[in-house]
Amino acid sequence: MNILVINAGSSSLKYQLIDVDGKNVLAKGVCDRIGIAGSVIKHKTYDDRSINKEVVMENHQEAIKQLIDVLTDQQVGVIKSLDEINAVGHRVVHGGEKFFSSVIIDDEVLKTIEECEELAPLHNPPNVIGIKACNEILHGVPQVAVFDTAFHQTMPKKAYIYALPYEYYEKYKLRKYGFHGTSHKYVSERAAVLLNKPYDQLKIVTCHLGNGSSITAVDCGKSVETSMGFTPLDGLAMGTRCGTIDPAAVTFLMNKENLSTDEMDCIMNKKSGVFGVSGVSSDFRDLDKAVAEGNERAELALQIFSYQVKKFIGAYACAMGGLDAVVFTAGIGENNPDIRQRVCTNMEFLGISIDPEKNNTRGIEIDISTDDAKVRTLIIPTNEELAIARETIRLIS
Ligand code: ADP
Repeated sequence: MNILVINAGSSSLKYQLIDVDGKNVLAKGVCDRIGIAGSVIKHKTYDDRSINKEVVMENHQEAIKQLIDVLTDQQVGVIKSLDEINAVGHRVVHGGEKFFSSVIIDDEVLKTIEECEELAPLHNPPNVIGIKACNEILHGVPQVAVFDTAFHQTMPKKAYIYALPYEYYEKYKLRKYGFHGTSHKYVSERAAVLLNKPYDQLKIVTCHLGNGSSITAVDCGKSVETSMGFTPLDGLAMGTRCGTIDPAAVTFLMNKENLSTDEMDCIMNKKSGVFGVSGVSSDFRDLDKAVAEGNERAELALQIFSYQVKKFIGAYACAMGGLDAVVFTAGIGENNPDIRQRVCTNMEFLGISIDPEKNNTRGIEIDISTDDAKVRTLIIPTNEELAIARETIRLIS
């Protein structure tokens, strides 16, 4: 079965065509700069045929037409016709309190996703546009929505209600939602497989450390706590996001610098995090280079980040009343031995201990714990697209 996985952003649209039975990515690519001058489609097949061409894409519908064209193209295509696409799986960022799991999209579902737009004004609208465009072009092909927030809908109320006047939760659904759910679910399930233990008997902390980072406590297969909140700004300091800070710092800074809400929002989302502290970059590879050259603020940024990850692991072990495994995933979690080492140093009291030699690796599934460690520390590359494709199959069959 071939599933087309779509991840639509405001000006880009990433796609993968996955043969789920064969676990093969037949082709993947991105339509970039949609609606902006110089829009381009970059496409690559499983057998290394590729295309990188400038084409006019005024909107998402044109982008989807373009990607269908390349998927069925004689030179760089992987299918003969649209009939070989069995279903489409869409990444949808916010499902609010409405969606506890993935769903087949119909008019009613689409309307409900649109109602969640207020909660994710930057992310949900392009997701909806992507769904509508597929509806028109791939008429009759079943479509499924897989939500970033759904996995976290099992959190207990004590974890997701903010200590603000309760009326704001009732009025605006202002609460913690959490994100990266598809990734946390995928890697925690893989952890159970690798450890050869029942998923519903494990206490796992999953650390999704990328440009955006979040940590989740997965207790017996359910998310019970997660570090991102009402928006993806909360929790860890990230590439450019500040993460958790004293809320009063926001009003203080707005007064001092005479900032509008949009300006403050921009500072917290785009100018903070390890980029803001180091003044160097949001990319950890650049920070590593700067540290090697003696840059003290880059070193401070790495210290802040790894210290925060360490604290979340400890807090979540307490929240679950125990810990069996810690999982590192996403760009930094999978590829940065130094950060993993910093996080896991002096954690023996909790049962965490990693072997420096095993840790000196990138991008593979591996248990990096010392043989005697009580808590297993694993690297598990995330695969959100495969998870979306599998969810899609589960729903349509
Ligand atoms: P996003 O949240 O945008 O998906 P990623 O998961 O790709 O981000 O993570 C980006 C971060 O991961 C960057 O800070 C980068 O330094 C790091 N990273 C990604 N790939 C590698 C790699 N091959 N080697 C070292 N670091 C990497």
